[in-house]
Amino acid sequence: MGDKPTIAISHLGCEKNRIDTEHMLGLLVEAGYGVDSNEELADYVIVNTCSFIAAAREESVKTLVELAEADKKIVITGCMAQHFQEQLLEELPEAVAVVGTGDYDKIVNVIERTQLGERVKQVSAEPTFIADETTPRYRTTSESLAYLRVAEGCDYRCAFCIIPHLRGNQRSRTIESIVAEAKQLASQGVREIILISQITTNYGIDIYNKPQLTELFRALGKVDIPWIRMHYAYPTGLTPDVIAAIKETRNVLPYLDLPLQHSHPEILRGMNRPWQGQVNDVVIERIKEALPNAVLRTTFIVGFPGETEKHFRHLCEFVERHQFDHVGVFTFSAEEGTKAYNLPNQLPQEIMDERRDTLMKIQQPISWQKNQLEIGKVVDVLIEQENPITGEFIGRSSRFAPEVDGQVYVRGEANLGAIVPVEIQEADVYDLYGKVV
Ligand code: SF4
Repeated sequence: MGDKPTIAISHLGCEKNRIDTEHMLGLLVEAGYGVDSNEELADYVIVNTCSFIAAAREESVKTLVELAEADKKIVITGCMAQHFQEQLLEELPEAVAVVGTGDYDKIVNVIERTQLGERVKQVSAEPTFIADETTPRYRTTSESLAYLRVAEGCDYRCAFCIIPHLRGNQRSRTIESIVAEAKQLASQGVREIILISQITTNYGIDIYNKPQLTELFRALGKVDIPWIRMHYAYPTGLTPDVIAAIKETRNVLPYLDLPLQHSHPEILRGMNRPWQGQVNDVVIERIKEALPNAVLRTTFIVGFPGETEKHFRHLCEFVERHQFDHVGVFTFSAEEGTKAYNLPNQLPQEIMDERRDTLMKIQQPISWQKNQLEIGKVVDVLIEQENPITGEFIGRSSRFAPEVDGQVYVRGEANLGAIVPVEIQEADVYDLYGKVV
């Protein structure tokens, strides 16, 4: 064991990438490699890259260049490796391997081959692998929180999105496999599980011939995890059955992250969205009626090619009308290899930035108002951090997802990883403040 190199992983990108990082760490530790959290001390650095939009790629490239200057042996994994395999090997002599998004399970073998002097290219043209409960995993989130991947890849082809190209078509895990992993996580003290996939409402179609989210929720309802949160629900997939299962399953949070992307039918058609024919308003009203206490989060893209003032105003009015709890806004990014890359009428970045700011300004008072409504309530808060200086805690209520939403600042007695009742006393646009009762 002593002569095995030490390895650090530099992690970029989304929670899907994070799960891949955690599996690579698990596999390396199991194979007896020393994993160092300090890149400077490690012999090898695995850079798990993101290639979602241009800004993410720039960050990945910056990390690669810095490590190359520090004379590290670099293994490039993740979405950029899948996308730019040849180019990366050509342009970065320090790269000893590139590993695709469906090949990270072979990381130990890849490292061994590089040690024998090979420059490894391990990239499946069409990623098909998905890890399960038997794949070693070394979690990097707080002890009480874990992401759980239910499916990988996507069968839709939205005009702006490179994900299907990077991560392949949808492949779901079985309900048994997901439940087995949820039980493992529960036994490790996890209090909140976030179900991850591109379109969680489509979970199961590929292996059961129809969506199985309802069945999955009911099965997870029997696992000892207080909070189960789903990421990426498509409005059209929120059928009466799914909504009933959310209502009836005690630990499934009525938190819906609906990446709507736009409201105007012409733009949605241009985006080739799976539910472009549906009228947004009707779908959202139906959800609100069926789940009156649902927390709604959504994301939009402004500046899609051809978006006129008229289209943008439609979106602004839509945001005003629906009073979402949380809204994220991205400016369009033309990605080579997607349909939108070649569309005419691309907008200048300044206009896109202006539109993003305008939309955010519309949402801010709405978010502020929603948070004000929490004042005086006693809500459950999952305690995640302790400020050693002030003794104050930081956690989240079920209205807040990690990373993207706000936090709750808590005074009083509490234990890390516990869910405690907190009386909310103050609120601003993003965060809440209160004390343990
Ligand atoms: S649904 Fe559309 S935006 Fe979402 S991952 Fe699939 S192709 Fe991309």
